[in-house]
Amino acid sequence: MYDPTGDRPRVIVIGGGIAGLATAFFLRSYGREAGVEPEVEIYEADESAGGTTRTSIEEGYTCEWGPNGFLDNEPATLELVERAGLTSELVRADEASANRYIYHSGQMRQVPTKPPAFLKSNILPLGAKLRIALEPLVPAKRNGPEESVHSFGTRRLGSTFANLMLDPMVSGIFAGNTHNLSLEAVFPKMVAMERDYGGLFRAMIAKQREARKKGTTAGGPSGPNAVLHTFLNGMGTLTDTLASSFEGSLHMGRLVQRVETNPDGSFLVRGDGWQTTGDAVILAAPSWATAEIIFDLDREVSGAIGDIWHAPVDVVCHGYHQRDLGHPLNGFGVLIPRSEGVRALGSLWSDAIFPGQAPENHRLLRTILGGAHDAGISELDEKQLHATADEAHRRVMDVRGEPSYRKAFRHARGIAQYTLGHQERVAKSESLEQELPGLYFTGASYRGVSVNGCAKDAKRIAQSILKIGEAV
Ligand SMILES: Cc1cc2nc3c(=O)[nH]c(=O)nc-3n(C[C@H](O)[C@H](O)[C@H](O)COP(=O)(O)OP(=O)(O)OC[C@H]3O[C@@H](n4cnc5c(N)ncnc54)[C@H](O)[C@@H]3O)c2cc1C
Repeated sequence: MYDPTGDRPRVIVIGGGIAGLATAFFLRSYGREAGVEPEVEIYEADESAGGTTRTSIEEGYTCEWGPNGFLDNEPATLELVERAGLTSELVRADEASANRYIYHSGQMRQVPTKPPAFLKSNILPLGAKLRIALEPLVPAKRNGPEESVHSFGTRRLGSTFANLMLDPMVSGIFAGNTHNLSLEAVFPKMVAMERDYGGLFRAMIAKQREARKKGTTAGGPSGPNAVLHTFLNGMGTLTDTLASSFEGSLHMGRLVQRVETNPDGSFLVRGDGWQTTGDAVILAAPSWATAEIIFDLDREVSGAIGDIWHAPVDVVCHGYHQRDLGHPLNGFGVLIPRSEGVRALGSLWSDAIFPGQAPENHRLLRTILGGAHDAGISELDEKQLHATADEAHRRVMDVRGEPSYRKAFRHARGIAQYTLGHQERVAKSESLEQELPGLYFTGASYRGVSVNGCAKDAKRIAQSILKIGEAV
């Protein structure tokens, strides 16, 4: 096993998505500062790096394969951006994107963001609004069995809210099913709000009070008011920049098949007709791929992480002339509850969020289809997929013409579903890390599905390998 005080360590990173690239980058960056720069080699199955964090710019449209941005409330991501020299390329979401819509009873309605306006709006029936207002009186549940997001929402805010609002909101983030997503795994802050303050409203009021005392802002349940950011040329800027800094040590088209241990505690990494060794190995491929890679190391852990289901998610980008839109589409986008019978989770209005992502007088709609409730989406061919998005655009967003630009990005295993039992599955991977020092599991499959989650974990692992900083 690698001794950070000894010779230059050799670290093998498997997977060149944001998780693998960020871990490699932090490791090299911190290592240089500590005077023990590790030798980092990245092995990526695909012919190009970036994983789902990539951008396509064509005909004036900036289309994201996966993430369209990251919130600026994760210091590790901001540090990564700074260290990569990209701070000056950051672009903040336009103020207009504060407007959010939901398609409800056949109509697109603006969602009020402040609680009093929300209670006055007609999105929910009176009984449901009263039930929400009673949330502070609901007794706090501080222990007991693991709870689903839906059960928590129903218990604290009522079933109408859970079905009509929470379900589409969670679909919009995780493409998931609230009935089997684990609250603790996907919204740990909500668990803490109930545990520490007795409820959501109580926690928000207490936090606002604390923030006022400190002269800061408290924000909502997701923490301080966070703003979505991208880069001038889209999110791919981050992965492209990190990848190009590893020229010569980033090996494309190298699918890793197995990791084994050597008698001296180092690791043997094998592909088809090639192999290499490392003092440490970062498993940064999605868990379904890592399950195969570690099959001979530990079948139980392989089985556990192999059970982390990744829901299929398809991204359809359609560009329209402004005159073909019957609605100004002046906001972040629209969420579409399942109950409305439209085959799409929602649509993001890319150029309203980040002006410049569509040509002049044109608009870019980025519609997300599939997810846990509609795994059958993968069976559609690309023509059917575009037609399905067209139908959603016409019906929900009053789009009247044909798109002049079409592009689709298909992710058969797109977003990790942190279902009930997720924490136990992750704990099993952590116990293997304890057993085999130098082995690390990271990426969106485990401790955070977002780019921020990946960056935070990347920093933790780099610090742990080098035995520096908070992770010691
Ligand atoms: C449609 C969509 C929208 C999203 N929107 C957002 C958003 O707005 N904001 C946000 O923060 N997050 C968003 N996410 C989540 C975000 O994309 C992920 O957090 C992030 O991209 C995951 O990065 P990763 O490196 O863990 O995995 P990936 O990006 O999947 O990278 C894993 C890499 O491992 C490689 N690999 C696989 N198997 C092997 C093997 N055997 N050997 C070698 N290499 C291998 C793959 O080719 C891939 O390059 C979105 C995701 C999707 C799908």
